[in-house]
Amino acid sequence: MIQSINELCDLIKHSPADLGVDKNPSFAFKVPRHFAQQIEPGNPTDPLLLQILPSLQEQEQVLNFHTDPVGDLKANPVESLLHKYQGRVLLMASPKCDIHCRYCFRRHFPYQQVKKTHWQDAFQYIQNDDSIHEVILSGGDPYALAEAVLIDLLTQVEVISHVSTLRIHSRTPVVMPEKAVRPNWLKRLQASRLNIVLVVHCNHANELTAESHVLFQQYQQAGITLLNQSVLLSGVNDSVETLVNLSKKLFSQGVLPYYCHLLDKVAGASHFEVKNRQGWVLLEGMKQQLPGYLVPKFVAEIAGEPYKTPLALPSLKNKP
Ligand SMILES: *Cc1c(COP(=O)(O)O)cnc(C)c1O
Ligand code: SF4
Repeated sequence: MIQSINELCDLIKHSPADLGVDKNPSFAFKVPRHFAQQIEPGNPTDPLLLQILPSLQEQEQVLNFHTDPVGDLKANPVESLLHKYQGRVLLMASPKCDIHCRYCFRRHFPYQQVKKTHWQDAFQYIQNDDSIHEVILSGGDPYALAEAVLIDLLTQVEVISHVSTLRIHSRTPVVMPEKAVRPNWLKRLQASRLNIVLVVHCNHANELTAESHVLFQQYQQAGITLLNQSVLLSGVNDSVETLVNLSKKLFSQGVLPYYCHLLDKVAGASHFEVKNRQGWVLLEGMKQQLPGYLVPKFVAEIAGEPYKTPLALPSLKNKP
């Protein structure tokens, strides 16, 4: 784990001054060594570097960029659980992540609320509502938890009979694959009565390595469905070629694209914004080059909406 910007700069052969780094960011700098090793040395616009480098641009105050952009704090019936969409609840299993992504929409979330003791309330809530059929482990990142804790969570979900699916959202398999290799956890997932889905969070083909490939094969052999969600990020993956390569490489490692999120308007991340119109152009470009199953759904998360909202061009709305 690299938590010093100077150490990163040594590794990738840059001086912090050249990169316009904020040396004392409010959202701390943190990157696993595996991820840092995929950064091209000497390239200040490397798409992986831009995702983790605390830029001075984060301090810009930009209209419409807020600390709770997706209305999470309003969908928080018990601490550590979000119930925004019908049939699915999201459990904030861990407040921590192995990497700090600068665009993160949860960078301001009051994670100190998330404590193990609150899970009992969360499981009670799920038990009491038999419309809930899917439990999503998210965070932070659930893979920041110890294997035994994950297994305990799985066991608690399994006993709730109306739950049929457990979904794990994690960036760890790509950014720190060695940590996602968990033989006992995998064995338990394979033996579970639940459908298991792993949604990896990968934004660029360069994040996919021989190590992630081996890992995904293990998950596939355990019968786990593998999906990816990405975030559309200016300077990182806002070209048709980059997105097409990402879909192709995901598929070559056994992962299907699921969502491509438009950036949540979180304070400090405005420099990553890709406008809707540009998103539309990118989506059209992907459709022309890829089979439908490799084109992710482009969505935005709009507070108060009943599902993630498909990308739409306002100017086309009223036309046939
Ligand atoms: C994204 C999200 C989900 C899952 O939505 P899907 O469309 O099923 O992927 C569930 N709960 C919350 C709070 C979410 O943000
Ligand atoms: S892994 Fe996900 S939750 Fe964690 S910092 Fe990155 S984007 Fe945010």
